Amino acid sequence: MKRIGEVGWVEKDIPSIGPMDALLKPLAIAPCTSDVHTVWEGAIGERHDLILGHEAIGVVEKVGSMVKTIKPGDRVIVPAITPDWGTDAAQRGFSSQTGTPLGGWKYSNEKDGSMAEYFTCNEADFNLAILPDDISPADACMLVDMWSTGFMGAENASIPLGGSVAVLGIGAVGLSAILGAKLQGAARIFAVGTRPVSIIVSKEYGATDIISYKDGDTSEQIVEATGGEGVDAVIIAGGGPDILIDAIKSARAGSIISNINYFGQGDTLPIPRVEWGFGMADKDIHTGLCPGGRTRMERLADIVTYKKGDPSKLITHKFNGLENIEEALFLMKDKPKDLIKPVVIIDD
Ligand code: NDP
Ligand code: ZN
Repeated sequence: MKRIGEVGWVEKDIPSIGPMDALLKPLAIAPCTSDVHTVWEGAIGERHDLILGHEAIGVVEKVGSMVKTIKPGDRVIVPAITPDWGTDAAQRGFSSQTGTPLGGWKYSNEKDGSMAEYFTCNEADFNLAILPDDISPADACMLVDMWSTGFMGAENASIPLGGSVAVLGIGAVGLSAILGAKLQGAARIFAVGTRPVSIIVSKEYGATDIISYKDGDTSEQIVEATGGEGVDAVIIAGGGPDILIDAIKSARAGSIISNINYFGQGDTLPIPRVEWGFGMADKDIHTGLCPGGRTRMERLADIVTYKKGDPSKLITHKFNGLENIEEALFLMKDKPKDLIKPVVIIDD
């Protein structure tokens, strides 16, 4: 990111590391909708010559003097969110919010990201997970943000076993939420979106009903399909501010509206007063940033190893060589109809 609205290449020194950190080379990297928000919407404010990228699998080049469990040559899963584990927020169980709100998000935010020949990871022992031999770097790259965020959407929604859930938005994040909802035991899963390629994967991941927000009011379609009741939980994974209106109108009493979407505009967000029971409807809104850290990544990898989910279904475009990251990023910006997620593979 050269500045807001402009990307290009920049030459930098190999970054230095602290005693608890690791220096890495990427084996696979993926651009994210968040990179698009960062560059073209100025989501985190102005940045100059910031290296983008927070979704990566890497090979360890060097480790700091205090690192015990990670060594040079290890192939590792690098979470998008790399918390400072000794902080108060982490100790209270909110590791993604260390220091400042969203403070666990360091890559391509408060430091250079992974779309580079070399990048670093803080607190390597606690943030990096060893990449199992049975998972390819490209597939594993789908765990670090997409699965972790989407699954969190389902976890935060507290979906009852056999309950119903609506997932609003079926990009890579929403699709991951659908798989998460299935793994959490949801019986009926509504997928809301239109991209044909996403509709195919949403069914493979467990969606039972497909709703197009272009075919009329989303909440009316969901309420009608549930006999006037609404769903037990809603996960928001796309759309603009008005998606909150759809979510609250689609939810029944006792529901959780779990937001994993990024809202980039306006000072306030809309809540429909009447359908929110004048503030007394027992419809709770839960928010969260992608969980990071080693244990989280190990658990997500186990879901692949023990065949409870297949991350490769999210990958629609594969490139070879770091130089192709620019094309992959522009694909993410332009979102052609056949795109879910591009990934760039780099030989070590
Ligand atoms: P995509 O742009 O790929 O997907 C967005 C989805 O939302 C598409 O399926 C789109 O439909 C759908 N959509 C658009 N408008 C509406 C609407 N009015 N009603 C219902 N659905 C709608 O995004 P990603 O999946 O990559 O990311 C989703 C969001 O998650 C982004 O805002 C991203 O920044 C955020 N994010 C949040 C993280 C967190 O930690 N909380 C981490 C990573 C990402 P269609 O099928 O028609 O295209
Ligand atoms: Zn991301």
